[in-house]
This record gives sequence, structure tokens and C-alpha cells, in this order.
Amino acid sequence: MIPAGFEYRRAGSVEEAVELLGSDADAKLLAGGHSLIPLLRLRVVRPSLLVDVGRLDDLRYVRDDGDRLAIGALTRHAQLASDAVLASRCTVVAEAAGQIGDPQVRHRGTIGGSVAHADPASDLGTVLLTLDADFVARGPEGERTIPAREFFTGMFSTALGPQDVLTEIRIPPATGTYLKFVRRTQDWATVGVAAVRLEGRVQVGLTSMGATPLRAAGVEESLAGGASPAEAAERAAEGTAPPSDVSGGEEYRTHLARVLVRRALESL
Ligand code: FAD
Repeated sequence: MIPAGFEYRRAGSVEEAVELLGSDADAKLLAGGHSLIPLLRLRVVRPSLLVDVGRLDDLRYVRDDGDRLAIGALTRHAQLASDAVLASRCTVVAEAAGQIGDPQVRHRGTIGGSVAHADPASDLGTVLLTLDADFVARGPEGERTIPAREFFTGMFSTALGPQDVLTEIRIPPATGTYLKFVRRTQDWATVGVAAVRLEGRVQVGLTSMGATPLRAAGVEESLAGGASPAEAAERAAEGTAPPSDVSGGEEYRTHLARVLVRRALESL
């Protein structure tokens, strides 16, 4: 389908993007376009103004800041998948990015667009929640940092305000893995599991097990109490609300979560 009419402006800086967003109550940011453009074409969303930040190349980077790694919000999935800093200091992000969609999606989609869109089947949101990432946003009042636990507020909804531009994501160095079960090659996750080892603790997150990315709190608690991976994994679905859809029902997803959590923990 053809999208409804809209004005188009290309922002030359983050400041200009914030200003343009403030000029129209129905404005929307455009980054890689791989979530927004399908929605425009289906007329699910009808913004009157699109503010294109897709050419702000200074927001495409992975930087090693010592005890934290900084990722620019416009960094594309393909860049994350092959980044040398991530490969040596936080492979789980690269591993998850490399499993997103197909090469076209990975070469256009951005990490900022992925988390701002907040699809509960998205892979990177889960990994970032599991890593206790911080999200840096610039808005009309200046810059603020939002912890991952406060960022995802519901299905397709986040703590970002209508004039906020996500600029950077900060993560700690960690070892870990991301396992994704798909019905077909290059598909969205029926269930995904991130497991990371961080300052002596093991943290576990789940994709497609609820309206937002989730932490597997029962698993983490069991591991902290000395349980084996197999014992801890039995608690994978505690506190979740898995959807039933074409990819699988609630019972199937619960089973997958337990199996994938055990495998992820055993590989750490
Ligand atoms: P856009 O589509 O440009 O924007 C998405 C939303 O985020 C919009 O509301 C926009 O206003 C907002 N936004 C964008 N950038 C910012 C910013 N910097 N600050 C604030 N708001 C912002 N994802 C997965 O995780 N796993 C998959 O397996 C997967 N498979 C896919 C398969 C296909 C065929 C397609 C089309 C997409 C798939 N995706 C998948 C989604 C893909 O990762 C998207 O690229 C991503 O979710 C959105 O990133 P984008 O840069 O394209 O954002």
C-alpha cells in the first residue's frame, strides 16, 4: 500500500531533530526505516512529518570507554555484528545483531530504532536489558539517561518522550550468549534468550515471552543460590506472559524458554 501523505525533513544534527520534532505534534523520527516504513505503508501510523536522522553518521560508533562501552544510536545491526570492540569485550551484542532478519535488514536497521520501536520480538532490547544498559536521550530539556529496566514500558512503548532522540546506549563489558529459536531461517524469535556473566553474577533475559523484553528473575535467583543450570532453567517462565500466535502457543514458548535458558547457561 502507499503511505498517507507526510512532510519530510532531513535533520543535520540531533539538536535540529529535537527542534523539528517540537514543531509538529504528529512528527516521527525516521532512522533505518525498517520498522517505520512498513507501518506507514500499512497506514497503521500516519505522521504528518517525518524527521530523518538516518544520515547523522556521527551517531554510528562503538567506543571502548574502559568500564563501559558506548554505542551510537544510529549504529546499524551489520556494523554491530562485525565490530572488533564488541567481539572482544561484549560478544553477546554482536551475536544477537548477527541474527536479526536478513542482510538487507541488518544493513539498514539501527540499534536505536530497534529499541525505540520496542517490538517484544526484537532481539537487541532483550540483550540490553540483560546487560543493565543505560539509554541516553536528548530532548528539549537537554540530555537524560534512562536505565534499561525503566526504558521498556509496554508493547511498542518506551520511556522516550515525543521530542526525545535516543543518541547513545552504554553497556558494561561482559561475556555471554544470545540464543534464538526461529520457525524459519531469518525469522523473528519465537523465543530468544540472553545470558551474561557480569561482575560474578549471571543475568538472563527473554525475548517474545511478554509485552516487553523480560528478565528471568527466578532463574537469576536460583543461580545465585547455587542451583545448577538445569535446575535454574526450570524457572525460566516464572513471571512471564508468553503470547499465542502463528509462531507458537503459550505452552510451547514456555517449553522453549526452559530449553534455551538451560543451553545458554551451560555455554557460559
Ligand atoms: P525505524 O524503522 O526508522 O524507526 C522505528 C521507530 O523508532 C520509529 O517509531 C522511529 O520514530 C523510532 N526511532 C528510530 N530511531 C530513533 C532514535 N534514535 N531515537 C528515538 N526514536 C527513534 N528486528 C529484530 O530484532 N529481529 C529480527 O529478526 C528482525 N527481523 C526483521 C525482518 C524484517 C523483514 C524487517 C523489515 C525488520 C526486522 N526487524 C527485526 C526489525 C529491524 O531490526 C528494524 O530495523 C528495527 O527494529 C528498527 O530500526 P530502524 O533503524 O529501521 O528504525
